Amino acid sequence: MSWPKERPDVSERMRNNNPMKRPEVAEKLSNINKKICGEKHPNWRGGISFEPYGKEFNKALKEQIRKRDDYQCQECGYFQKDLIYKLPVHHIDYDKKNNDPINLISLCKSCHSKTNYDRDDWVCHYQQKSHAVTIQYIG
Ligand SMILES: [Zn+2]
Repeated sequence: MSWPKERPDVSERMRNNNPMKRPEVAEKLSNINKKICGEKHPNWRGGISFEPYGKEFNKALKEQIRKRDDYQCQECGYFQKDLIYKLPVHHIDYDKKNNDPINLISLCKSCHSKTNYDRDDWVCHYQQKSHAVTIQYIG
């Protein structure tokens, strides 16, 4: 009776079993990282600002976002009570149909107007803020 001396096929398979090394898993992980910051939204079509808002983006939702943000501009810290208007609610990825609270943030008019320029930078900037706020809010 003789045992096979080596079984290279098995050890080879073991090595390939490490999920981190499988290309499809590595790709998924890098996609998750990209999602948090820096990825251009696929629906963003280069600054068209006259798209209709999704119908769920209404007064109630905006109020909910302002409340979550303590009625405070999340950029400069101005409180709504010190302003003569209600804080605008900004769509972080510029997609007016993406009304997920994590995509919405309260800004004063002055800070909101800045988001018309350097859009890519603001997407990244506010995504990080919004994640922090939302995590705090959910507790
Ligand atoms: Zn502000």
